Amino acid sequence: MKKINYGRKSRIMENETLNKCCCGNSEKSSCVEEKNNLCPVCEKQGALVKNITVKHLVLDELTEQVGGNDYFLCMNDECGITYYDTESNIKFNKQQLKVPIWFKKDANPKYACYCSKVTEEQIINAVVKDGATNMKEILKITGAMSNSQCQKKNPLGKCCHQIIQDAIDKGLSMK
Ligand SMILES: [Zn+2]
Repeated sequence: MKKINYGRKSRIMENETLNKCCCGNSEKSSCVEEKNNLCPVCEKQGALVKNITVKHLVLDELTEQVGGNDYFLCMNDECGITYYDTESNIKFNKQQLKVPIWFKKDANPKYACYCSKVTEEQIINAVVKDGATNMKEILKITGAMSNSQCQKKNPLGKCCHQIIQDAIDKGLSMK
């Protein structure tokens, strides 16, 4: 009797050790700090994007598939995956979105301001050809950020400001 109990106990302990990291166990995803935000294809870390943003950017016929979860955006320029949710196992690729993701390879057109549909090229031209040197001049020349709806239009659901600034810096470095 005692022997059987010991045997069972050690077996339970063994199982406990094996299950210690809940993240490695596909049945459970309760380990919050290590919530799986890795792209299911390239396995690089993604950026959290709100559900409302994803719903607005996937093709209309796919809106229903989005469900109610927030998503991650794969930040790897080489990877064809855009939004993914590891919990429901849903993922979208570049072709399933209404707009190209600016940092993805071969993005065309390459938008810097999604709200007003101003491209990186337009901003660089405003710097190189029209002599703009700062954000204020850029906004005036290109009309960028005149129609701010970043939560619905920008792929990260964030203000386009930083992407525009990066494009200005790129233009300035070409002078
Ligand atoms: Zn990826």
